[in-house]
Amino acid sequence: MPKIAMTTPLVEMDGDEMTRILWRMIKEHLVEPFVALQTEYYDLGLPNREATADQVTVDAALATRRLGVAVKCATITANAQRVEEYGLTRQWKSPNATIRALLDGTVFRAPIPVAGITPAVRSWKKPITIARHAYGDIYRNTEMRVPGPGRAELVFTGVDGEQRREVIHDFEGPGVLQGVHNLDASIESFAHACFTYGLAVGQDVWFAAKDTISKTYDQHFKEVFQRVFDAQYAPRFMEKGVSYFYTLIDDAVARVIRSDGGMVWACKNYDGDVMSDMVATAFGSLAMMTSVLVSPQGQFEYEAAHGTVTRHYYRHLRGERTSTNPVATIFAWSGALRKRGELDALPGLAAFAGRLERATLGTIAEGRMTQDLVDLFEGPAQALTSEDFLRAVAEKLR
Ligand code: NAP
Ligand code: MG
Repeated sequence: MPKIAMTTPLVEMDGDEMTRILWRMIKEHLVEPFVALQTEYYDLGLPNREATADQVTVDAALATRRLGVAVKCATITANAQRVEEYGLTRQWKSPNATIRALLDGTVFRAPIPVAGITPAVRSWKKPITIARHAYGDIYRNTEMRVPGPGRAELVFTGVDGEQRREVIHDFEGPGVLQGVHNLDASIESFAHACFTYGLAVGQDVWFAAKDTISKTYDQHFKEVFQRVFDAQYAPRFMEKGVSYFYTLIDDAVARVIRSDGGMVWACKNYDGDVMSDMVATAFGSLAMMTSVLVSPQGQFEYEAAHGTVTRHYYRHLRGERTSTNPVATIFAWSGALRKRGELDALPGLAAFAGRLERATLGTIAEGRMTQDLVDLFEGPAQALTSEDFLRAVAEKLR
């Protein structure tokens, strides 16, 4: 069988621990036998981040800007324990944070639905993608315990020295106080990323906030989204047969639960934090969540939503054959190959991505899967090691 050709390389970001092991197996069993794979390889494994003083992460992000599509393996975010374990000179920043900052991107998380695993919400037939704004609000807050009676004020001092103030509250007793902010530039790039993603996947975009209560802050988010949509996206949405609408967050929650899914739900930072856990859990498992970072310029970086599965890695190091779920990482590869196929007008490559996904889901639907899915599966299920599962998928793909 001739291999499918590529014209532009993918940016390949290798990672750590169990997912690094799976990475090699996925390429060997499911990609390289079928595709004449071209990648620009960056080793984001912690030892190489240490050896390059984390320059490799920056280089990989810049390569993504240049080439447009990346596929990333899960990576360790260094903490004090990892500094000791790997003999690090520094607690290197999270690679995802570095990449996100350089691409100015928004993260979209979507579950992979599979026949035989019913979502907890029975009406959900299609995946729900949560687009979480990843800047500001309570994640960059300033807080204060109010000890007793007194006046709390909001004060803004312009560079010209001019001040604006608002009374927050005249305290008659003790309480608490918090200040939050956001930036026009960040909200705008969030809106661009959501609309770009909605067009790319051909799904409606919903945005929800609480502008009835937050008449300046949330109202501003709502206005920015509408302005960006009207100015740059409305005709293309019409052409694609998809829509954008704004609604109140409580209304969105009620509508999402009654819907059959299949929308991009753009959330402010806190709402996205809470709702993405709700959606992931209701669809089944963290090992079945994909994640893609989309920049406002339309660059895409695909990965699994889960981490490096450390506990399984230590078992692997003891010589055990683990049953770690590779599905989200396979879908990171298929997502990246499909996008490369679309951008380079290579329908054969995009079609291969579809076949790879169908072979993966088909193998599970037949009752062959990794251990984590066995308990969720309705019907007889056989637990395979990661490698045997990948072999089964490869066989189906052939
Ligand atoms: P994790 O790697 O997602 O694993 C947590 C637990 O979830 C695992 O122990 C396992 O449970 C289950 N699990 C997750 N993915 C699975 C899979 N593919 N197949 C089967 N089970 C799976 O999270 P963590 O242990 O909190 O973090 C480990 C490392 O990953 C950390 O160093 C963290 O910094 C990093 N991390 C990276 C990313 C990223 O690169 N995007 C994201 C999150 C975390 P059982 O052990 O019960 O089987
Ligand atoms: Mg959370």
